[in-house]
Amino acid sequence: MTNLLPNLLDFTLEEMEAFISSSGKEKYRARQIMKWLHQTGCASFDAMTTLSRDFRGKLSAIARIYRPAIVKIQKSQDGTQKALLRLEDGLFIESVLIPGKSHWTICLSTQAGCAMGCEFCLTARQGFKRNLTPAEIVGQLITLKHETPDGANINNIVMMGMGEPLANYESTIKSIQILTCDFGLGMSNRRITVSTCGLAPQIIQLGKDICINLAVSLNAPDDETRNQLMPVNKKYPLATLLTACKKYPMPGRRLLTFEYILIDGVNSSRADAEKLARLLKDQRCKLNLIVFNEYPGSPFKSPSAKDVEAFQQILLDRHFTTMLRKSKGGDILAACGQLSGAVGNGYAVCLWD
Ligand code: SF4
Repeated sequence: MTNLLPNLLDFTLEEMEAFISSSGKEKYRARQIMKWLHQTGCASFDAMTTLSRDFRGKLSAIARIYRPAIVKIQKSQDGTQKALLRLEDGLFIESVLIPGKSHWTICLSTQAGCAMGCEFCLTARQGFKRNLTPAEIVGQLITLKHETPDGANINNIVMMGMGEPLANYESTIKSIQILTCDFGLGMSNRRITVSTCGLAPQIIQLGKDICINLAVSLNAPDDETRNQLMPVNKKYPLATLLTACKKYPMPGRRLLTFEYILIDGVNSSRADAEKLARLLKDQRCKLNLIVFNEYPGSPFKSPSAKDVEAFQQILLDRHFTTMLRKSKGGDILAACGQLSGAVGNGYAVCLWD
C-alpha cells in the first residue's frame, strides 16, 4: 500500500516553501531540503544534518521521501545503460543512460506504458498503466545520478522514454521546474528536451508555459502514411501539427527537431524524402533520421544503408540540417521506441549522442 504522506520530491521550491511555512518553520529551510534531496541525493530525513533532530523528526511524521528504485541495469556494447526501475506501487519503468564524448544523457520516462499506440513502438504494446508523478520523473535522474558510477556526469535530459510527456502535462511541467531550480539540480533549460508524438494543443500550451527544447516524432511525409503509423495523426493531422510547431518558441536560436524513424517499404523511399522536404519547407527545424531497430517479432524492417544514404542526401540537397542518428543500445533493446519496463527480458528507449 502506498504511503499517503506527501512525497517531498514532488514539490517545486515554491511548494516546498509553502509546506515548510505551514509546519511552522522558516521558509529558507525549504532551500536546504531541496539541496539535500536533489544535490546530495538524500533518501532519508536522518541524513539531513543541517536540520535539527526535532525538525527531522517532525518532517518524518508529515512527509516522506520516495524515488524509483533500481532493479537492474543492462549494459550495451556501445556503452548505453538501461535501468529497470520499480515504482512504489510495484509497476516498472525504464530509463536509459547514453554516453556522449564527455558527459551522459539520460532518457526519462513520463508514463508507465503509453496510450498513443504508435505502430513501431514496444511501449505501445503494453498499453497505458498510469501517469508518473513529478517525483517519479525527477526521481529517475536522482536515483541514477547518485546510485550509478556514471550518473554523476549526466548533464543532458531527454524526455523520450516510456510514455507521451505532453499527455502527462502537469507532471512534465512541474518536473522541468524542479530540474531547473537553482536549489535542485540547476539544469539549464537548453539541456532538456521534451519529445512528443504530436499533441498539437499541448505543444502550443507548452510554448506559453515554459521555455524548453522540443522534438516532434514525425515519421511520415503525408497524412496517409502517418495515420497508419501513429493514431494521434487522425486527431491532429499534419497541417494542425505543423502549425503548432511553427508557433513554438524554442530557447535561444535553437531549432525544433523532427525525428523520423526510417522504415523499409513504409516511409524511406526517395519519393518520401522529396515529399518530406516539401512538407517542411517553411519550418525552422532540423531533422534527426533514425533507422528502425528491428526486434524479435517486430512488424517492420530496417531500410538498406544505400536507401538511408539516398534519403538523407535528398534532404541535405534541400538545405535541411539532417543528422543520421545512431540508435544506441540496440543489443539490450534500449533503442528508439523499444522501452517496455518488462522485468526479465527488458526492452528499452530512444538514444542519441
Ligand atoms: S513512440 Fe512514444 S508516444 Fe508513441 S506509443 Fe511509443 S512511447 Fe507512446
